[in-house]
Amino acid sequence: MLNPDAALKMINDLSFAPEVEQVPVAETLGRVLAEALPARVDSPPFSKAAMDGYALRSSDQADRFRILEMIAAGDVPENRVAAGQCSKIMTGAMVPEGADKIVRVEFTRESEGWMTVVEPEPYENIIYRGENLRAGDPLLEPKMLRAQDIGVLSSQGYPSVPVAAVPLVGVITTGSELRAPGQQLDPGQIYDSNGPQLCAQVEAMHARCRSYGTVPDEPKQLAAAIEGALGECDLLLLSGGVSMGDLDFVPGVLKSLGAEILFHKLAVKPGKPTLFARKERSFVFGLPGNPVSTFIIFEVFVKAFLFRWMGIASTPRQVSGTLAQTVKRRDAERLEYRPVRLEKRRIVPLSYHGSSHLSALREAEGLIRVEIGTTRLEEGSELDVRLL
Ligand code: AMP
Ligand code: MG
Repeated sequence: MLNPDAALKMINDLSFAPEVEQVPVAETLGRVLAEALPARVDSPPFSKAAMDGYALRSSDQADRFRILEMIAAGDVPENRVAAGQCSKIMTGAMVPEGADKIVRVEFTRESEGWMTVVEPEPYENIIYRGENLRAGDPLLEPKMLRAQDIGVLSSQGYPSVPVAAVPLVGVITTGSELRAPGQQLDPGQIYDSNGPQLCAQVEAMHARCRSYGTVPDEPKQLAAAIEGALGECDLLLLSGGVSMGDLDFVPGVLKSLGAEILFHKLAVKPGKPTLFARKERSFVFGLPGNPVSTFIIFEVFVKAFLFRWMGIASTPRQVSGTLAQTVKRRDAERLEYRPVRLEKRRIVPLSYHGSSHLSALREAEGLIRVEIGTTRLEEGSELDVRLL
């Protein structure tokens, strides 16, 4: 059994040269930025009003102010503001020369071309040129782009950016007992949940999923399906048939196809039989059939692989909290990932009967780690939760 952190290191040490493509910024949600980008313009590009009001000199003690003009967002002011003068200005408009303060409209009265300040304005209400960013400042490092990053790139005038190509991930579920949802379930059969779940996990990573359906536990059919998919995909996910049973054909079939087994069996719970292999430029995860195992192994190991493939390290979001009840286990040979939910800062382990208990994941908001050698985590201990 390989130590799971060693397996993660092996994955993170793989080197890929992902193809880079230039994509319109509006289409980059979830894509991985391929290189660090600088700010292209000062932000804001000119000193501008933060409020609707009147631009004037802060030192001006006049009783009332002559209004020179109205400056709308997008206008260039025509007048310099001198003593006893002001210009009406809208939020986002360029501050006129001479002025160093905007008195908010609600603190003023206007009549026949004159403005009177009726309440003191404590703030300048000006956002100065380059106050947020200067042209040339670092803007974004390689990362998976989120909506706010798309906003940031657009605000800097980037029409398109270089992003890593998206991996094509194939999914084959194996098991003679599996039927697709919608089909009739005969005695001994179950619905295939791993196929749709894995594709959803792939799509949540903004990668492309190609589903190859279900293959029965029969080596010839399995070999044909795997061979076909390996020729097309960057990564192939297999579910089921990977452990020690008489009908667990996945490891043997992969070997017969010339794949190199990088690891098989991890000191992890759930998911001990997990297999990782490569054939030429394609990689394969053999995931255990039990649906909780499949879910968790994807979350921890497959995600790390996909991030690596796209050129960045996986940095799972974590929060810390206090364990709401003692967690005990007899066997401490493996690193265990336990599903939990969160009540404010309290970590509540889910009542979970093992790796086939998929419905327990309905409430799961995170995973905690029970380390190798640990048999008890005491109520009240401080733990990190990896968010799902
Ligand atoms: P296996 O890894 O093939 O020994 O399967 C372990 C358990 O997971 C068995 O109870 C299988 O019936 C179940 N299982 C295998 N594949 C799937 C699947 N695609 N969806 C749901 N359960 C599955
Ligand atoms: Mg099976």
